[in-house]
Amino acid sequence: SHELKTPLTSISGFAEIIKNGFVKQEDIPGFAGKIFEESQRLIVLVNDIIKISQLDEGGIPYDKEEIDLYDMAEEVLGRLAEPAKKKNINLQILGEHARIKGVRLILDEVIYNLCDNAIAYNRPDGSVTVTVEDTASGPRITVADTGIGIPREAQGRVFERFYRVDKSHSSGGTGLGLSIVKHGAAYLGAQVELHSEPGHGSTFILTFPKAEA
Ligand code: ADP
Repeated sequence: SHELKTPLTSISGFAEIIKNGFVKQEDIPGFAGKIFEESQRLIVLVNDIIKISQLDEGGIPYDKEEIDLYDMAEEVLGRLAEPAKKKNINLQILGEHARIKGVRLILDEVIYNLCDNAIAYNRPDGSVTVTVEDTASGPRITVADTGIGIPREAQGRVFERFYRVDKSHSSGGTGLGLSIVKHGAAYLGAQVELHSEPGHGSTFILTFPKAEA
């Protein structure tokens, strides 16, 4: 409730003082800007909460289809080229084509959140490497970064809703990204592993069930 109430309280507060005529004409754009920013944040937050509850209920009425992990990873990295460029982060994709059966929208969300974090929590001039393999235990996608890493004691908690290791390092995200990854992976039947060394980087591995013969 804290996460939802904080932006709402500031929106309401700013609107109230404008309404009561306490804000000078020239300061109004600044106040309106704050109301706009906070409401944008709230929209993202509410959308993320809706995504998680839909995954939780398992009630998404989408059909499963064959999806190539490599092609999808390539597409996601394409969408993230701009933010990566801003931090001078090198994005690369390695490996081979591997097909899974799943829901495109959910898989996209999961891979996007992992890659987005890998950029957000990286160091300037760092890199993000996505590897796709068709292993004996099933198709696998690995997202590895050269960023700040996650302390061991936090590694079990980062998948919790709203949990953030260090608010000062926060990307300004909602704290729901990895929760969406966890629920999305469960929906797709994939196992999630996290390996990370603070100061060196983090690696997230998703292993999907083997295709039925
Ligand atoms: P946020 O919106 O804060 O990014 P997430 O649920 O995606 O929320 O991640 C939770 C927290 O886990 C982040 O705030 C950050 O502290 C940590 N984290 C996630 N991904 C990484 C990563 N690749 N490297 C380092 N820390 C990470």
